[in-house]
Amino acid sequence: MKYEDIYKHSINDPEGFWAQEAKRIDWHQPFTQTLDYSKPPFANWFVGGKTNLCHNAVDRWAASHGDNTALIAISTETADGTPAEKTWTFKELQAEVERTAAMMSELGVGKGDIVLIYMPMIAEASFAMLACARIGAIHSVVFGGFASNSLATRIDDARPKLIVSSDAGSRGGKPVPYKPLLDEAIHLADHKPEHVLLIDRGLVPMNLVAGRDVDYASLRAKHINTKVPVTWLASDDISYILYTSGTTGKPKGVQRDVGGYAVALASSMETIFCGKPGETYFATSDIGWVVGHSYIVYGPLIAGMATIMYEGTPLRPDASIWWQIVEKYKVTRMFSAPTAVRVLKKQPPEMMKKYDVSSLKALYLAGEPLDETTSAWIAEELGVSIIDNYWQTETGWPVLSIAKGIEDKPTRLGSPGIPMPGYKIKLLNEATGELCGSNEKGVVVIEGPLPPGFMQTIFGDDERYIKTYWSNFKTEQVYSTFDWGIRDDDGYYFILGRTDDVINVAGHRLGTREIEESISSHPNVSEVAVVGVEDKLKGQVAVAFVIPKLAETTLSAEARHQLEKEVFAIVDKQLGPVARPARVHCVTLLPKTRSGKLLRRSIQAICEGRDPGDLTTIEDPGSLVQIREALKP
Ligand code: AMP
Repeated sequence: MKYEDIYKHSINDPEGFWAQEAKRIDWHQPFTQTLDYSKPPFANWFVGGKTNLCHNAVDRWAASHGDNTALIAISTETADGTPAEKTWTFKELQAEVERTAAMMSELGVGKGDIVLIYMPMIAEASFAMLACARIGAIHSVVFGGFASNSLATRIDDARPKLIVSSDAGSRGGKPVPYKPLLDEAIHLADHKPEHVLLIDRGLVPMNLVAGRDVDYASLRAKHINTKVPVTWLASDDISYILYTSGTTGKPKGVQRDVGGYAVALASSMETIFCGKPGETYFATSDIGWVVGHSYIVYGPLIAGMATIMYEGTPLRPDASIWWQIVEKYKVTRMFSAPTAVRVLKKQPPEMMKKYDVSSLKALYLAGEPLDETTSAWIAEELGVSIIDNYWQTETGWPVLSIAKGIEDKPTRLGSPGIPMPGYKIKLLNEATGELCGSNEKGVVVIEGPLPPGFMQTIFGDDERYIKTYWSNFKTEQVYSTFDWGIRDDDGYYFILGRTDDVINVAGHRLGTREIEESISSHPNVSEVAVVGVEDKLKGQVAVAFVIPKLAETTLSAEARHQLEKEVFAIVDKQLGPVARPARVHCVTLLPKTRSGKLLRRSIQAICEGRDPGDLTTIEDPGSLVQIREALKP
């Protein structure tokens, strides 16, 4: 079958197409209706069906290929960077997940309860996720790089019964304590979890709160032989919530189902990633991001592959570590981000050649725009196909890519590719909502019904879901990706950046509003604007312009430097180093419209040396002069 035929089938007859795809997973009870689209834009897939993600990822393979490797945990966060490695077969993984499920059950967690997971990249994090899936608890993984305030907001929104965490993560061989951040977050949050289950890695001492905190190892010891059967879930039960940044400071809880997600992953693992049971998949992301959910934990296991969980940087003990892993575990499919490749490109060239990477068949890159130089360089170095893929936390799996599992269509430099089965994509003019023609820039939108695996809604807020994503055009109700795009004459799409206030730093999505809110809490800051500015290494970095209080008296260079240091510290403490701006500039005026709206796009344009655009509504053009002045070295 050719891509065109399959794609057309998925668009013209979505129910027929996805009913067929649904055969890729085990159903405890078959579905009676493939799609309920009676309340658009909510698409409810596989109605009446019962299944379980953990069964499809673990038990199914434990029964048929129990001695195959399922999980490989590798950490180079050791004293000298020598990898510490441990593997689990599917049978062993099943036993460990059952133990974790038993621990959760003992702590009162059952179907529909929320478990927040705030963990470094250690095997226990995936045990916890899979254990939730097993018993029908809803996990909400929060990226370990986020600090107290970010964590507190998520605790208050998700209201977890249990939090699973550990004493510390580690970065470059140095422990990064988690427990004090977690304690502070729980203190800040209105909602208090009943229990906190803590893995003691022996990295930093922990003070356990009596009655609330529970030691993981002791509880595990009690459940070494406990069996916990799979809880069969309705296809549209919630599997997880994953928070992502948007245009407001309040993060959105992207909510996903069980059955649709399992089918979308099983389907994409074959059509896009060509995953084969018994092979090894290595995604270098983190469980705190959507890639970690879809293609570290669930996707590869659903496909019967071994999956690698890697804790560490690409440079420790040296820049050949990833290729050492590829050689040792005969990795066939690898998934990373353009920033990581740009980091490796700066290393001595011999680092790419130390190990035999001939097992590798393709490298998938996503999360941010892939520039042509980076793509061409890594393709040449590895001698494999580089497959760009474009998607979002909301979509759960790639929207644009090249489905090599269907047809070996050529990739095109600079383009993530063509629409994947199930995605009816088009480009609309931002102002008029009219359909864009070839080579015309527009907003990338997706027509409903959205395919399986897509977010169901924003957790606890259907109205916000519709208002945020489905109400951007007066002409028709379509899902907006908030990305600019362009399509060439052959149907290949190019992504040209965000239309909203979201920025993308090294593949990490951050809301400028969230960073602004944090900076505003500094006692000497009266106003602030944060914009994303192009960066050679990280794609984008955040740059802040602040109006210090008492701004009429010009600050000395020393005072400005001091303020910048304090702003860094406040963002680190509240949001985490991941959100820290690269630079903080002091001004006395910010560019705004007469109605008081910050002209972020104009500030960004000036920072990138571009024309600031239409300024007819600007209140005081002097503000732009100040931005230019502030940027002078
Ligand atoms: P996240 O939800 O954190 O995965 O971020 C999604 C956003 O990252 C998208 O809306 C795009 O702006 C950007 N993005 C993801 N993948 C790509 C890609 N392959 N090319 C260009 N931009 C991408």
